[in-house]
Amino acid sequence: MLSVLTRFFVIICVALIAAFVSLSIWGVEIAIAAGIFIISIPLIYAYINLARLRKHILADSLENMSLPSGFWEEVFFRLQRLIRNLKQRIRSIEQQHDHFIEAFQASPNGIVMLDESDQIEWCNSIAERFFGLVFKRDVMQRINFLIRRPEFVQYLQKRIFEEPLLLERMGPNGNLSLMLQAFPFGQKRHLLLVQDVTDLQKADAMRRDFVANVSHEMRTPITVLMGFLETVQTLDLQKDQQDQYFDLMMSQAQRMKSLVEDLLTLANLESNTLPASVSVVKIETLMAMLKNDAEALSQGKHAIDFELSSPMNLLGEEREIHSAFSNLVSNAIRYTPDLGSIKVAWSVNSQGQGEFLVKDSGPGIASEHLPRLTERFYRVDRSRSRDTGGTGLGLAIVKHIANRHQAQLIIESTPGNGSAFMLRFPKDRIATS
Ligand code: ADP
Repeated sequence: MLSVLTRFFVIICVALIAAFVSLSIWGVEIAIAAGIFIISIPLIYAYINLARLRKHILADSLENMSLPSGFWEEVFFRLQRLIRNLKQRIRSIEQQHDHFIEAFQASPNGIVMLDESDQIEWCNSIAERFFGLVFKRDVMQRINFLIRRPEFVQYLQKRIFEEPLLLERMGPNGNLSLMLQAFPFGQKRHLLLVQDVTDLQKADAMRRDFVANVSHEMRTPITVLMGFLETVQTLDLQKDQQDQYFDLMMSQAQRMKSLVEDLLTLANLESNTLPASVSVVKIETLMAMLKNDAEALSQGKHAIDFELSSPMNLLGEEREIHSAFSNLVSNAIRYTPDLGSIKVAWSVNSQGQGEFLVKDSGPGIASEHLPRLTERFYRVDRSRSRDTGGTGLGLAIVKHIANRHQAQLIIESTPGNGSAFMLRFPKDRIATS
């Protein structure tokens, strides 16, 4: 390949030779014309190639342009290679960008990118949902015009982002608790990370309620017990009076014991995340035990009927099944006034599901209480529950045991018409032996 200077030199030489030859043959005018003609050939060629280049640049088809020969071939070839490399780089940067966007979109957290004036540069769909934003509509809008909660506006204004900010009652239905924090990046930009902490907040509130409830439940019998102890210590009591006090103390101690036992049962059930085992629970034996316990608890004050309609047994954890069944039976006895009737039945329905039913003629429960009955310490009739030794944890235990056996707890009750509590077990937990 000849260099540009050499080419230039060659053209000038050829033009001069042509001019000299023409001069000696045809005279000055022809010599000048021949020189100009020779020099303008590469200029015309260059013009034609530049025009082609312009056409391909305008049509963005430089890579498809056919290469001319000679000097322009190299120029066009290098230009095409440059364009191809640039396009490839742009494509790979775009791909990287798309991957980042996909990763940010896949995040369970809301992400908002803010510029130095807190204008939204980008946000993912979770942030759109959390704050009711629409990225296409709200892009480059100042975020404090769109999220107008005073605590959030203040947080942005203060520019102290070391601590996160908790925003409650957020989201489309106003039921989300969001924890957000701004992190500086780039040139005075901020990345706003938003986490849905609704469940954590709920769990925290439940934990606080639980501790308060347990303390409250324990404080009453302890206070009563201490009162009796003081009385026995300070007063000179007769033997029969003393016995009476000891009985009362015993019943308070018993109440605490039941509470601690139920709490331990619940804690065990909650910590055991595996489904219940599938050992055979002999229903006939279990029903006989329940009958004995029920008669002892009722002391003949109720008409209790036990019905075994199916010889089928249950596959599950015997201790848990016994605890769930006896909780339902003892509730029926404790809440049904004297002379009331109670029916306890075991059957298998037409779909092969096992059904344990406890039906009583007691006071019944108003519908607004039904969904909350299985909450820990939820009581409809507080005084009756306490008077009869209830801990407020019985149905919570039943519900946990039901879940571990994939069973449903179905409660039907109307005030004045008694209650029916049924545990319905799936077909694959029913066995012949
Ligand atoms: P408790 O130890 O107080 O009985 P449970 O969790 O077993 O706690 O029951 C929760 C509440 O449901 C009880 O306090 C009571 O008000 C109501 N309840 C449960 N079983 C019956 C029933 N058979 N009849 C009427 N009310 C009931």
